[in-house]
Amino acid sequence: MNITQIRNATLRVQFGGVEFLIDPFLAAKGAYPSFPNTPNADKHNPLVELPVAAEEVVRADVTIVTHLHLDHYDDVAKRLLPKQMRLLAQSEQDAASMRADGFEQVDVIGDSTYVGDVRIQRTSGQHGTGEIGQRMGKVSGIVLTHPRERTLYIAGDTIWCTDVEAAIEQYQPKVIVVNGGAAQFLQGDPILMGKDDIYRTHQEAPDALVIVSHMEAVNHCLLTRTELRNFLQEKGLTSSIYVPEDGESLSF
Ligand SMILES: [Zn+2]
Repeated sequence: MNITQIRNATLRVQFGGVEFLIDPFLAAKGAYPSFPNTPNADKHNPLVELPVAAEEVVRADVTIVTHLHLDHYDDVAKRLLPKQMRLLAQSEQDAASMRADGFEQVDVIGDSTYVGDVRIQRTSGQHGTGEIGQRMGKVSGIVLTHPRERTLYIAGDTIWCTDVEAAIEQYQPKVIVVNGGAAQFLQGDPILMGKDDIYRTHQEAPDALVIVSHMEAVNHCLLTRTELRNFLQEKGLTSSIYVPEDGESLSF
């Protein structure tokens, strides 16, 4: 497999001979206002440009959208993705919304969803705690498996929770992508993983490589790559947890 960190949660993944695009958020730097009721409200999203042209990012076989928040599926993605491309959604509700955007081949990830020989399974998550987590709505992760590939688990927009623990136990992934950044509102707990959640993920899967995505691209993400890397250095975890730059590719 090959995983390219594009920007925010947007990834390109070559797996079992298939080119996947995950969570396309493709607008130019500063195209959208900050998220409401968040820190750094003077900063517009996305905070940085894409490392490659958006037109290039959308050249994939299949696109998977873990949930419909703007920083995972935006207007530029809706415009640039070919309307005939196969899209995979977490729920019938999300799929209906994507069909309303003009996409003609939208499937809900189910018990036997395959693209070629790659099996795609949906996992659950919690996009925050308590009332905020409820308000964030349903979110999902995905697990990709193929006879000749190591198992890949992309946890999606979730904090560390029993859903993540259960997914690691069930699928025994060798590569795990988590969304770090510790995004938060002015009140309440983070809605994405922070340092301790990422560390916890590693403890649950000590033999897996944990890759941290969703960093330094939207205004309410407060954990920086530098702070996280310093933490990993202190803990001696730099060979188990990796924080790629935008545009960086990793092969396994
Ligand atoms: Zn997000």
